[in-house]
Amino acid sequence: MSHESQVKHWHVTYNHIHKIIQKCTPRIAAEFNPDLMVAIGGGGFFPARVMRTFLRETGRNKTLQIQAIGLSLYEPIDGVSEQKIGEQVVRTQWLGTEAGKMLLGKSVLIVDEVDDTRKTLSYALTELKNDIEAELLTRPEADREALRAATRFGIFVVHNKNKPKLAELPEGTAYYAGEEVDDVWLDYPWESTDIEEHDKLAAKDIIQTE
Ligand code: 5GP
Repeated sequence: MSHESQVKHWHVTYNHIHKIIQKCTPRIAAEFNPDLMVAIGGGGFFPARVMRTFLRETGRNKTLQIQAIGLSLYEPIDGVSEQKIGEQVVRTQWLGTEAGKMLLGKSVLIVDEVDDTRKTLSYALTELKNDIEAELLTRPEADREALRAATRFGIFVVHNKNKPKLAELPEGTAYYAGEEVDDVWLDYPWESTDIEEHDKLAAKDIIQTE
């Protein structure tokens, strides 16, 4: 039996995700006020795009830039890598050589669909901070501390699973979760090949928990 068939599934609709993001964006705008977003692909792409719409609603007249990184959690099995809850985060896409320059001094909101073990978010933050440190080395020593302090990282996930986490976030990271959920397997609409069936299953999931 695969890992996914042993756990309870929870189907989530586009509309539900849209509304979660609508609800929490004003707080993120007021408290964190991002300068740009870094979406972790592929699950972070749709949430980041929707959040941009609601961030504009909060009075910004400039459309926020969305940068993309690709990360995957892999567990090597008999020498073959199979995509599932795993050991190691693998980069499939990263920002260009100017990454540090682009992020330095900014409030950067990292966006993903779900915080499960937290390994992916922890990896993303550690690596983005490394890019910042590499950029700082090119700046005059006297400016470094102020530039480092001006660079802020925040996280937005649509769902946070209430479970023990296997990795930590650096201290001072702003953290926003749209919805807290149990340790279920979330089926997202963009993974579905039959959206009508997906929405029917989502409606049933809601009735079962009412
Ligand atoms: P992490 O364990 O590092 O927090 O999550 C890693 C990645 O695993 C997430 O970005 C997501 O792509 C995937 N993942 C974790 N839990 C779920 C889930 O419940 N549903 C789906 N569709 N993907 C998940």
